[in-house]
Amino acid sequence: MGAHNRVRQPGPARVELHRPRGARALIVLTHGAGGGVESVDLLAVRDAASAAIRLVDMGAPSYMVASSLHAVLAQRLLRLVCESCKEEHRPEPHAERWLEAHFGEQWAGHRFMRGRGCSHCNGTGYAGRTGVYEMLEMAPELVRAAGLADPNAFAEAARPQLEGRTLTDRALELVLAGRTTVSEAIRVATDVEG
Ligand SMILES: [Zn+2]
Repeated sequence: MGAHNRVRQPGPARVELHRPRGARALIVLTHGAGGGVESVDLLAVRDAASAAIRLVDMGAPSYMVASSLHAVLAQRLLRLVCESCKEEHRPEPHAERWLEAHFGEQWAGHRFMRGRGCSHCNGTGYAGRTGVYEMLEMAPELVRAAGLADPNAFAEAARPQLEGRTLTDRALELVLAGRTTVSEAIRVATDVEG
């Protein structure tokens, strides 16, 4: 794990931040328990549940992952609809199929927004970005699952905690609030689901 970025705080606890190129999920690990050192490592993983599996893949012993991983925070950035040229529109047929497949009837009757393109947004229809997040805390059942070094068992154990709170769910909330487009949500979801 490369130490591209390192942040040190004054006081008894030292926080070290390691961010390899392409990192997308924040992994909070502590090293040297009792030594006052907190280490924050950023790994390139698809989503929060993949993080523990990736650590094992990288050669970390599963017992060590189970005992030192506290939480995983995954993040994606979405472009925001330009407020200067925002307009209502009906999503494309493929986007409607995606909404229905992922969220059933939950999206029906909602108004969808996009930017028409103006001088403020250089014709892109987007201005600014915001983050969506999913967080996985290492509850006892997840610690046990991580100790098994079985990716499927871990993903299964993580599912209840992430239910309705995944990156894709958060992206859809922004779509339904008219702050981003369905295509941005599809881009994030496709990225997460591979
Ligand atoms: Zn605009």
